[in-house]
Amino acid sequence: MNITKGEQIYEGKAKKVFATSDPDLVIVDYKDDATAFNGEKKGTITGKGVINNKLTNFLMKMLEEKGVPTHFIEEISDREAIVKKVTIIPLEVIVRNIAAGSFSKRFGVPEGKDLLSPTLEFSYKDDALGDPMINDYHIKALGIATDEELKTLAEMSFKVNEILKEYLLADNIILVDFKLEFGKTSSGEIVLADEISPDTCRFWDKDTREKLDKDRFRRSLGGEVEAYQEISKRVLGD
Ligand code: UDP
Repeated sequence: MNITKGEQIYEGKAKKVFATSDPDLVIVDYKDDATAFNGEKKGTITGKGVINNKLTNFLMKMLEEKGVPTHFIEEISDREAIVKKVTIIPLEVIVRNIAAGSFSKRFGVPEGKDLLSPTLEFSYKDDALGDPMINDYHIKALGIATDEELKTLAEMSFKVNEILKEYLLADNIILVDFKLEFGKTSSGEIVLADEISPDTCRFWDKDTREKLDKDRFRRSLGGEVEAYQEISKRVLGD
């Protein structure tokens, strides 16, 4: 693809975003920096950026082939991908199959309990407010998304769940829960954006239920580099 990298337009906790010579495309550049608890805990997971870039690109491509529109265009290096420029809808969409993390705490459900059906919840993406949980009525009242858009977000998220759950199970990985973000393209289409990685999903080994995701860092369990490598090996074969 004949596009050139322009100036940095954004730096987040785990990624940088660069403009390109095409106004509808940007380049994301994945870092090894790791944060948790709204930036309170900081560290580095060596090699994470490379793994998250490759894993995200691979899974987005697979989802796209199965009918989920995404922002992904092309992987251009170990840490970089070209994606469609979108306006991020300021919501984190969290889908859960098994109780864990904040869900377990909030509802007093032991971590690891199977849920009778997948759940979906929204957080309002605002670091200063600590990403508070937000419901459909709040979202509509604040003009963050319309009814129709909310329906699209939920349908797409549950579809992603079904596809990923089945796909990962073949690699002996249980998809416990995950967070998605969506964006609107210049033509107004809602597409899956951000990343799909051990930073944003809980992955457990199917047999041992060992944690193979960012909880190793969040909870200071150790072995985070190896956990990310294990996911990469199982899903990408490297
Ligand atoms: N998650 C995320 N970013 C956030 C919050 C959550 O990617 O800012 C992911 C997290 O990795 C997990 C899922 O969303 O896979 C559900 O997280 P939870 O609400 O249980 O929050 P946590 O326990 O991580 O604070």
